[in-house]
Amino acid sequence: MFLTRRLVALALAGFELLVGSTLAAPAKAPDCCETLRKSLPDIVSWSNTSAFTDSLSAYWVQQESLAPPECIVSVQSVAHVQTTVRVLARLNAKSNTCPFAIRAGGHGNYGASNQASGVDIDLRGLNRITVDQGLAVASIGAGASWGKVALELDTLGLVAPGGRDGDVGVGGLSLAGGISYVAPLVGFTADNIVKYQVVKASGDVITVSATSNADLFKALKGGLNNFGIVTRIDIKTLPLSRTWGGTTYYDISTAPQQLNAFYNFTSDPSYDDKAYAYQSFGYTPGSTVVLNNLAYAGAPATLPAKLSVLNAAAPALFSTLRLDNQTAFTTEQAVASPKGLRQIHYTTTFQLNKEILTASFEIWNASLARIKSVPNLTYSWTFEPLPAPLLAASAKGGNVLGLPSGGKPLVLGLIRASYVDAADDTYLNDIVKQVFSDIEARAEKLGVANQWKYAGYAGKGQPVIEGYGKSNVAFLEKVSSKYDPEQLFQRSVPGGFKL
Ligand SMILES: Cc1cc2nc3c(=O)[nH]c(=O)nc-3n(C[C@H](O)[C@H](O)[C@H](O)COP(=O)(O)OP(=O)(O)OC[C@H]3O[C@@H](n4cnc5c(N)ncnc54)[C@H](O)[C@@H]3O)c2cc1C
Repeated sequence: MFLTRRLVALALAGFELLVGSTLAAPAKAPDCCETLRKSLPDIVSWSNTSAFTDSLSAYWVQQESLAPPECIVSVQSVAHVQTTVRVLARLNAKSNTCPFAIRAGGHGNYGASNQASGVDIDLRGLNRITVDQGLAVASIGAGASWGKVALELDTLGLVAPGGRDGDVGVGGLSLAGGISYVAPLVGFTADNIVKYQVVKASGDVITVSATSNADLFKALKGGLNNFGIVTRIDIKTLPLSRTWGGTTYYDISTAPQQLNAFYNFTSDPSYDDKAYAYQSFGYTPGSTVVLNNLAYAGAPATLPAKLSVLNAAAPALFSTLRLDNQTAFTTEQAVASPKGLRQIHYTTTFQLNKEILTASFEIWNASLARIKSVPNLTYSWTFEPLPAPLLAASAKGGNVLGLPSGGKPLVLGLIRASYVDAADDTYLNDIVKQVFSDIEARAEKLGVANQWKYAGYAGKGQPVIEGYGKSNVAFLEKVSSKYDPEQLFQRSVPGGFKL
């Protein structure tokens, strides 16, 4: 069903191209941009303008910044988004030759939110944040960063369950699902969204909630950029001023104790819902360390016992663990992952299991010998848990992610290489891919593999939507046909993970 529908869409696109070419020359990217400029003269920019350069250079991934679109539409209002979508829908109706990308924070993987030689719709101008304190709901423009969200909400003593890195955008993270520090308490970011404002393929704006366009409401909770352009989300907040957070660094020789502690923390049958922790193993030239990133949704005077299990597993090299506000934590994370580097990353998911934790670490660790020749490299393997309370909250959150409803915890594994020189692309890609596929093969062999891949961390081409399960895929296809009958967001927005 999935393949057939996709093939039909491609065949139709090809047919239209053929028919279109006999009737009238299809629009080319420069013509698309010129047509957009006529409707939106003040917000369409070309290379050699500061608006264009500012937008392009602000992508997190270097590969994106080096692949310029033909033009960028820097929208400042919902009306701008409507006009842009109407023009692009018209231009693409016959020829499908104006491919475009939807970009919020621009923190996504290579190819997700930038259309080389095409059109980029930059949503960062839609970054207004207002708060209904009575309802404890924040209305956030989809182009805002989570750093801006933290800054505004800190002044009110509120926390939105969103990104932990301040540079990450609201749009991409919340449509992927969204893992926050308070996820075990409240589920994914998407589970906490009570309303979306969306521009459909027709250019019309609709409100999407549990009572209005309820099918789309569910589809957006994990459905990525496949249904329309989200211009605003309304999200529930938590009353928290200061919380525990930060990262503790250990020598890599302590890995066995750390793996054990991570297993005990995540598998604890009386898991403390306020606690969250992920564990990374990281190489930079000159040092290889274990990093435990800890968080607690509260401000007790001392670190809660459940987290101390991880914190006390071995003597630390140094630590940023402290009580602080979200602005400080999101800034710390953003500084730790600077933009402008080349990136390779892949993600997988497995059941929490001691053997796969150890084996995957060992596979990654053994590959260090081969990558050390690459200059200025950061190379890491991360475990990010989906503990039982998170899965239970997610099951109630109405998302379309297709995760099991509780019981056994899952763990996301994320491999990442950050470096500077394109000359290292092939060499590193080959190694990272091999390491990753060895880890997945081991998980299969141990019988702990899970097909789910978190969209926020997935590499280009990984089967994200398929991982949601057949019935969710069928549901998403139905919703797509209803809200986007011409399949604009499938045919003309190549970036991201398509249905
Ligand atoms: C260093 C780092 C830290 C991270 N931290 C976290 C974290 O704490 N929690 C977490 O869950 N994830 C995290 N992520 C992953 C993050 O969620 C994804 O990279 C996410 O896609 C980024 O969103 P963005 O808006 O910045 O990206 P963009 O590149 O702008 O967009 C990503 C995708 O979403 C689509 N999209 C964006 N906005 C819209 C919109 N308004 N309407 C329709 N489609 C849209 C784009 O078309 C694109 O396909 C992190 C990633 C990195 C690299």
